[in-house]
Amino acid sequence: MVARMHPPNTKTQYISSRGKETFGFEEVVMSGLARDGGLFMPTALPDFRADLHAWKHLSYPEMALKIMRPFVDLQDATLRELLSKSYSPFRDTDVTPLRRVGRIWLLELFHGPTLAFKDVALQFLGNLFEHYLSRSGNRLNLLGATSGDTGSAAIHGVKGKKNIAIAVIFPRGRVSQIQERQMTTVPDSNIFCAAVDGSFDDCQRLVKDTLRCLDFRDRFALGSVNSINWARVLAQTVYYFHAGIRVLAATGANQMSFAVPTGNFGDIFAGYLASRMGLPIKRLILATNENDILARFFQNGIYARGKAKATLSPSMDIQVASNFERYLYYRTASNPEQTRMLMEKFEKTGKITTNDLPPPLEPEVFTAGSADTTATLQTIKEYHTLHNCLLDPHTAVGVHVAKPYLEENIPLICLATAHPAKFPKAIAQALGRDIARHETLEALKDLPARCDNLPPDPETFRNFLANHFN
Ligand SMILES: *Cc1c(COP(=O)(O)O)cnc(C)c1O
Repeated sequence: MVARMHPPNTKTQYISSRGKETFGFEEVVMSGLARDGGLFMPTALPDFRADLHAWKHLSYPEMALKIMRPFVDLQDATLRELLSKSYSPFRDTDVTPLRRVGRIWLLELFHGPTLAFKDVALQFLGNLFEHYLSRSGNRLNLLGATSGDTGSAAIHGVKGKKNIAIAVIFPRGRVSQIQERQMTTVPDSNIFCAAVDGSFDDCQRLVKDTLRCLDFRDRFALGSVNSINWARVLAQTVYYFHAGIRVLAATGANQMSFAVPTGNFGDIFAGYLASRMGLPIKRLILATNENDILARFFQNGIYARGKAKATLSPSMDIQVASNFERYLYYRTASNPEQTRMLMEKFEKTGKITTNDLPPPLEPEVFTAGSADTTATLQTIKEYHTLHNCLLDPHTAVGVHVAKPYLEENIPLICLATAHPAKFPKAIAQALGRDIARHETLEALKDLPARCDNLPPDPETFRNFLANHFN
């Protein structure tokens, strides 16, 4: 074994939400999910309350360095370099700029390579992977099933990187043209895409079954990209601080609220962490589309699985929110045994309720609502007519649900999670014409595409992987 150049910082410790053992940051990043099925959680959180004022002029990468410092066992110079590499491809110098629109603030998270907020985390994760692999000399072959934005953001996070390859599968004909071309036109030799004759669930099953074949998994050093990786959540807490601190400085307010269009509970959980680390958040407004399992939980106290329905905001068409376990862990006062029992109960019965949970230790910062198709289209139209501002359908869900929470002296920041040009059909439906454009998406039309076709069959899928991975 090669000796480590950088001894791990023993202060940075993680635990599984279902276990007792502790882990370092590198293992947490490289393995994604704990072996006992739990999600990695830090054993302690820093308190930044006293620092916020002094940070108001920090650039995005400088702020990221401050926030991530206590969590990451890399030397400052290394972390700084990885951050600068991750955020220089963003098209705005502020990385995630804030824009005043009517009475709200829009936090534009879509200036990365694939025009959705997932770039903020996946650009950084790709660079972290590359760094750890070059240090260990190992290889990593990633698998991903996608119904939309995750696949392309993951591909753009790892394309051209050494010691790493990725295969992304998606249901044939069920992702948008634009989303498909954002994946299949990437020319780098470490990227492989396949369209599966089946549903998104079939794709996800192929990935899960393959990861469960331990021989195959070890032979090809397989890993997965999904929203449960701790580094993704950590990267997302940064923009809550970056935006929150700026809005406090601009308005003189003492608190702010955030509205977050939510699917897997990853993005809004990052906001919850920011609040636990001292950002004075009055409300975290959780907004869902008609797939409202999370909204129902925060409204009625019942978390019950339903059937996923296709909507105008496909990246939120999710019924079981994989990061919700992290919230349960905090609700049980960081009790892994109780978290495991709750998750087992949910897996068995499809339901848990607040009666299964201890009461919250402090007043809940969460509030929730949902927006149906009509409300989403109306909100897009209203913002275009009144403010000449185009909202993508996910952002419109958040803006709609946030409306009743506009308060005096509490600035309201709505997360804009995708560029409207990614969802031209919804824009056309709302406005009667398709006017959302972005130059990078226009350019995709002329590029050659590479994509295989696969039946929803595990053995064919493993052969496909064996042909491409080494
Ligand atoms: C993924 C996604 C969401 C939902 O984020 P979660 O972290 O899954 O809650 C919202 N909007 C867009 C555009 C997305 O791609």
